[in-house]
Amino acid sequence: MSESIARPLPALTAGNTFFWTSGAQGELRFQRCQACRTYLHPPVPRCPQCLSDDIEVEAVSGRATVGAYTINHHPWHPAFPPPYAVAIVEIEEAPYVRLTTNIVNCDVDEVTIGMAVQVRFERAGEVWLPLFEPRGR
Ligand code: ZN
Repeated sequence: MSESIARPLPALTAGNTFFWTSGAQGELRFQRCQACRTYLHPPVPRCPQCLSDDIEVEAVSGRATVGAYTINHHPWHPAFPPPYAVAIVEIEEAPYVRLTTNIVNCDVDEVTIGMAVQVRFERAGEVWLPLFEPRGR
């Protein structure tokens, strides 16, 4: 009997744990500068726009749009059986915030640029991976 191979996971740090564990509450969260309201990702200690260090973590809707994607057909890693969609999604509240992720729960041929998607967390131990699926599924 073969065991499934786990996908590589991010290392949790003091600065990124809020991001990788927010799926436990079903929320996608980002840092947001409280001085100029810019969303910040990946996590930073100081806002690069206005240099404020008044930064809090806020939840967003989880809605996003596919900005770019590719369909992988090569078996690069046993945890990722092909074909699968790797996408860059733009967060609804802040399209300048882009996440590299997988589009799941649809046929890879359905993925298009501009596709409306929503976050769907996949738990792997302590980490909740923010994957995206077509909106309304
Ligand atoms: Zn700022």
